[in-house]
Amino acid sequence: MVHIRDYQIPWVGLKNGEHKFHFEIDELFFMYFDHSEIKRCDIHIDLKFQKSEHLFILKFEIDGWLELPCDRCLKPYEQSLFDDAEVWVKFANNRGEGENADEADCIYIARTDSFLDISKIIYDYVLLAIPLGHFHQNVEDCDQAMVSQNSPGARNKASQKVDETDPRWDALKKLRSKK
Ligand SMILES: [Zn+2]
Repeated sequence: MVHIRDYQIPWVGLKNGEHKFHFEIDELFFMYFDHSEIKRCDIHIDLKFQKSEHLFILKFEIDGWLELPCDRCLKPYEQSLFDDAEVWVKFANNRGEGENADEADCIYIARTDSFLDISKIIYDYVLLAIPLGHFHQNVEDCDQAMVSQNSPGARNKASQKVDETDPRWDALKKLRSKK
C-alpha cells in the first residue's frame, strides 16, 4: 500500500535553508498512479529541498532500475535509471494564478497549502528518465530465438521466398522459355 502522505513535505515547519529527503520507490508506487505495466523496480530518490521565503528549489537525483520488456526480444530486462531534475516551486498569490504559466519545471502552490505533495513530480521524472529504446544492454542477453525471428536478415530471407513465387516472375520465365 502506498501512503501518498509519505511524499508530502510539510514545508511550513521547515526553516529556510537546505533539507534532505530520501525516497524509495517500488512497483506499488506505479500501481497507485495506474501505471501497473511496471511490475518490478527499485528506485532511490535523493531530494535536496532548498527553502527560501518566496521560492523552493527541489533537486532530485534518481538512481535505480525498473523492469521493462526488451524491444528486440520481448523478454523483460532491468533498465537502469540515472537522472537528475530541478523543479522550482513558487507561490500563487491567488488560487488559479500561475496555472497558465508555460514555465517548464515550475509548479505553484498556495500559501495556505501546508504540504507539498511531490509524488506526481517523482512519478513524472522517473518516467522521463527512461530511455526511448528499451534493450538488453548486451545482445547476448537477449532471447536468441526471438532475435533471429525478428532480425532484418530473417525478414529478407522471407521476402526472397515471396519473390521466388511472385507470379510476375513466372510470366517472365514463360517468355524466356519461348525463346
Ligand atoms: Zn532483449
